[in-house]
Amino acid sequence: MSADLQFTVEPNTQSASDDQRAAILANPGFGQHFTDHMAIATWTAELGWHDARITAFGPLELSPATAVFHYAQTIFEGMKAYRHPDDSIHTFRPDANAARFNRSARRLALPELPEAAFLDSVRKLVEIDRDWVPGGGETSLYLRPFMFGSDPFLGVRPSAQVTYCAIASPAGSYFTGGVKPVRIWLSQEYTRAAPGGTGAAKTGGNYASSLLAQAEAIEQGCDQVAFLDAIEKKWVEELGGMNLYFVLDDGSVITPELSGTILEGVTRDSILKLVTDLGHTVTERKISIDEWREGATSGRIREVFACGTAAVITPVASLKWDGGEVQVADGNGGPVTAAVRSALLDLQYGRSQDTHGWTTRIC
Ligand SMILES: *Cc1c(COP(=O)(O)O)cnc(C)c1O
Repeated sequence: MSADLQFTVEPNTQSASDDQRAAILANPGFGQHFTDHMAIATWTAELGWHDARITAFGPLELSPATAVFHYAQTIFEGMKAYRHPDDSIHTFRPDANAARFNRSARRLALPELPEAAFLDSVRKLVEIDRDWVPGGGETSLYLRPFMFGSDPFLGVRPSAQVTYCAIASPAGSYFTGGVKPVRIWLSQEYTRAAPGGTGAAKTGGNYASSLLAQAEAIEQGCDQVAFLDAIEKKWVEELGGMNLYFVLDDGSVITPELSGTILEGVTRDSILKLVTDLGHTVTERKISIDEWREGATSGRIREVFACGTAAVITPVASLKWDGGEVQVADGNGGPVTAAVRSALLDLQYGRSQDTHGWTTRIC
């Protein structure tokens, strides 16, 4: 039954009024407001996936013994739906998110959700809540599919009951008043992921363990934290929730290679192809923290940027650590960062020809 799992649609009889929705869409912020519906499905060891529905957004009732509260057996995805100039609504590489969801599921001993079912849930949720997709600027409908062990049982084992859910939240422009380059704090005390751990899975625990380092970054007057590898504390991995790219003085582009401890960003992967389209050579390889520090000082590194679905592409102004700080060029980002950012946004918002077949029309 799981293979052709379809989400039935139960429209919310108490949806927000046009006025209520318009008031929210006028200033949606990020992650604060949710649409009228959500997708939900249940998995049990006996029945597999079943009871898949698009239904009214609302609270879940869970036993205090629910597995996820105790052992953090949970995964999530982050993607967006975009309104194009002709008012059609599109997602961007949703198949990549569906595939990564299942890679994460395997690592967290959760059942895989057939990719077609993942895509069906997202499509139907966006379709029924299409009026919630904002238009104009860099606005979007942020989509958050997630899955967690919902067995009300305190034993340590993979949950025998699992809940899949997808919710949607209108998002305003991440940057109001222009892109703002970020200061990065280098965490030398904390690491994010170790070999054999869960660094490549999109799981809440990775975020829980990054929060203290992120708080340290804020204390240091920085915006984001950068993590090094857990063994040598030498190799640049990524930020708490974004991958990193470096532009060298010869125009070539480098990004840390996927080591099993880095999250395989869909944005990271898309940029590999977009910078090639823009005529740059791009290499995935190890990048040491000394290469970053020395390269920014000497001018060998011209630009650094962070990338992820939520903030798209963000220039890095400087790297700060316990003992010093080095600015990247003039600290204002650079032309390659700007060109890649435009190329990606133009595709996502339907302003350029989609030669990669990445945009998927929902309605
Ligand atoms: C989600 C995430 C990213 C970015 O992935 P995208 O698919 O580009 O949004 C990068 N790093 C971490 C740790 C993440 O969780």
